[in-house]
Amino acid sequence: MIYFSTNKSSVPVSIKKATLEGLAPDGGLYIPSEIPHFSPEELALLEGATFNNIAFAIAKKFIGGEIPLNQLSDMIESCYPFDTPIVKLDIETFIEELFCGPTLAFKDYGARFLARLTGYFAAEEEQLITVLVATSGDTGSAVAYGFQGIPNTRVVLLYPSGKVSRLQEQQLTTAGDNVHALEVKGDFDDCQRMVKQAFIDPDLKERLTLTSANSINISRLIPQSFYYAWASLQLKELYGYHDSLFSVPSGNYGNLTAGILAKRMGFPISHFIAASNANDSVTRYLDDGRYDPRPTITTRSTAMDVGNPSNFARLNYFYGNDHRAMGKDITGIAVSDEETFATIRLVYDRFGYIMDPHTAVAFRALERYRASGIHAHKAGIVLSTAHPAKFLEVLQDALDKEIEIPERLLDVLEKKKRATLISSEYSELASFLNELKQSP
Ligand SMILES: *Cc1c(COP(=O)(O)O)cnc(C)c1O
Repeated sequence: MIYFSTNKSSVPVSIKKATLEGLAPDGGLYIPSEIPHFSPEELALLEGATFNNIAFAIAKKFIGGEIPLNQLSDMIESCYPFDTPIVKLDIETFIEELFCGPTLAFKDYGARFLARLTGYFAAEEEQLITVLVATSGDTGSAVAYGFQGIPNTRVVLLYPSGKVSRLQEQQLTTAGDNVHALEVKGDFDDCQRMVKQAFIDPDLKERLTLTSANSINISRLIPQSFYYAWASLQLKELYGYHDSLFSVPSGNYGNLTAGILAKRMGFPISHFIAASNANDSVTRYLDDGRYDPRPTITTRSTAMDVGNPSNFARLNYFYGNDHRAMGKDITGIAVSDEETFATIRLVYDRFGYIMDPHTAVAFRALERYRASGIHAHKAGIVLSTAHPAKFLEVLQDALDKEIEIPERLLDVLEKKKRATLISSEYSELASFLNELKQSP
């Protein structure tokens, strides 16, 4: 399998190069030259298979040939030692809980796979890869815990001092080992500017192999298709549904793009709801075909506050820049903060189930979609992207109730914070990076 750039002017590359590079040299995003397909016979064999067996079957099609199959299989086992539960709320409504990994959010699925793949390819090249990320919270923690202890890799992450929650800060600063946290006296934009400058600094290029780990990396996207495949097959196996509809809380639209991959591979998926908050650039595009991104608006589902989503380029490529074609597979629905709060309360009252604000956006979007009458009486799967305890402040505003905090979150809160405080001058980041050792 080879990988193309969405901008079409870079040469096609192997998965190794696409993974280590992240972004294509022409500024585009890598996409597979063709999406592998599962025949009905192959799908029948996967019904009733474990999550990891399904993941392996998919990974084999995308990267088999580049990694010995026994190593690929071991890699998957070490990525996903946790469950992916599917909770039934009523006869046709299900929640897929993607928050059972170490950082309690779905970004663990992509980050853990990317980390192991990067480590494997870096060892093959006898390189030491430095992953440089600016984070306002969730991506950084998934990357920190994903790369923790992976040979031939290290992570340097920058976060804005005083601008992340205490829980997030603990997750960012306690992974230890090969993960270095830099606490920047500035805001998230400063962090991003410093990281961008590092990527174009010729002196650093001489000394270090730098890569980024944000959701533009194709190796974060491929593993996110695993849980769509798993849920669609589980619903068939356990409840007899021949196809499922997914409601996806969206920010950069990486999660949704991974769903499109799963559908095109042949998994039994009928349709997607792209649920957004007030940041509705893609929702509006689906309505009228005009892409008119606006500045980011702050909402209570913060991880979805993205004005100009990076994976829109991939979606557009898959649908040949045709919003009507895209609309056949995807319905965009924007949900307000008020509706999000009301939904958290309603779902708790009706089902006794506590959901985080991002999940609530997707749940509400599914309800609105059903109320419109199309596709009624189909299994709807809401992707739950974070554990409610990660957003305690919002939950406390929405529900008058104590939220139980899982053991592994409490563990993180007790660990000792290790971070280096720097100013927002690029030179301070450069000298930190220059002092790192150069080879494995
Ligand atoms: C990142 C994130 C999202 C948005 O996912 P995208 O792939 O960027 O669309 C939704 N919910 C949570 C909790 C997240 O951390």
